Amino acid sequence: MNADMIMIHYGELSTKGDNRKAFIACLLHNVRCALKPYGVESKADRDHIYVYLAGKDPKPIFERLKEVAGIQRLSLVMKAEPTLEAMQEAALALLQEEKGAKTFKLDVKRVNKRFPLDSYGISCAVADYVLDHSSLTVDLHEPDARVKITLRVDASYLSCHEELGLGGYPLGMIGKVTMLLSGGIDSPVASYALIRRGIRIECLHFASPPYTSMAVVDKLKDILAKLNVYQSDIKLQVLPFTKIQEAIYDNVPEPYCITTMRRMMIRLAVAMAKKNKCLAVATGESIGQVASQTLESIGVIEEVTNFPILRPLCATDKLSIIETSKRIDTYDISIRPYEDCCTIFKPKKPKTRPHLDECLLYESRFDYESLIQECLAGVETIYFSEGQEVQK
Ligand code: ATP
Ligand code: MG
Repeated sequence: MNADMIMIHYGELSTKGDNRKAFIACLLHNVRCALKPYGVESKADRDHIYVYLAGKDPKPIFERLKEVAGIQRLSLVMKAEPTLEAMQEAALALLQEEKGAKTFKLDVKRVNKRFPLDSYGISCAVADYVLDHSSLTVDLHEPDARVKITLRVDASYLSCHEELGLGGYPLGMIGKVTMLLSGGIDSPVASYALIRRGIRIECLHFASPPYTSMAVVDKLKDILAKLNVYQSDIKLQVLPFTKIQEAIYDNVPEPYCITTMRRMMIRLAVAMAKKNKCLAVATGESIGQVASQTLESIGVIEEVTNFPILRPLCATDKLSIIETSKRIDTYDISIRPYEDCCTIFKPKKPKTRPHLDECLLYESRFDYESLIQECLAGVETIYFSEGQEVQK
């Protein structure tokens, strides 16, 4: 391919006013980290980040950039002399790279006002050249390929092959969240949604050995490796949940077990979030999906805290969640059989509309505070970086 640069468009980021500089610096940092293996240089200005290809194949670099949060659009750019002949040849070369394109449109911006032709004149002259030297035709409304030409004094820049990036905000700009990762389909997708929005995640898992197998941790590691594509390092904290779960089943009537268990999970998650300076707790819950995810249940569960709880998938349909999990490649890992602490103790008739006063009554029957402290003290931490477990 003939491209000299990849041009990154910020999109939503440009609405950020005073924060703009910080956003651009953060995105540039993230772009440089993602492109480290490719040995290319990059530079940012007010409107774009430019990645200089220096003869390298743009394809893998372009694809990698599509996984970086905060990039709205990206396109390939060719630098040419600021002459009509050079623009004509470059436009033709770029369009010939657009496999399958039958029609094209040119968009000309003339920054160098001293150039003898105006932008319409340049557009006609370049289009005529392309028409004469290829089988392409012009379509101003729905072209298969677009070439943008910016003519400056020192050079002309021609860009084409524009694609959408991940969107969202640069990772790290919005703070850090404690994400409850279960091993099911939903929580990895919720994790991805947060990262895409620029929110850094730390994961928390409640393990209930021997009722649940520790093989779930291997499953979680495989999920973390996939999420590393979007956030290059992620911490997973595993909490020993067995004693709390046993105490619940000894003291709480079956229909209220799940609600009580969720209340305990939130208490633990909030404690961990505060300890790690995370600004919220997040889950993969989707309203109405199961008994514990009715609005009534959510109300009773959230009563344990006034700390923010995020549910990125709260209004997302299961089919669409599955579609995303396939796209980010976590689906096949998530559907591997495993036993979660939610499924292993699953009551036959969980309460879909629990009452807070009943919950409080059952919780007063045992000293859950000290069990919570004991659970927090037993945390085990695993670090995942660039798809590999690392020691810290
Ligand atoms: P998922 O596919 O994410 O497991 P789910 O539909 O199975 O979701 P639940 O099992 O009710 O739903 O769990 C809802 C959310 O609670 C999960 O998305 C996750 O955020 C959290 N959660 C459930 N079990 C655990 C666990 N063992 N450790 C950490 N978080 C959990
Ligand atoms: Mg689950």
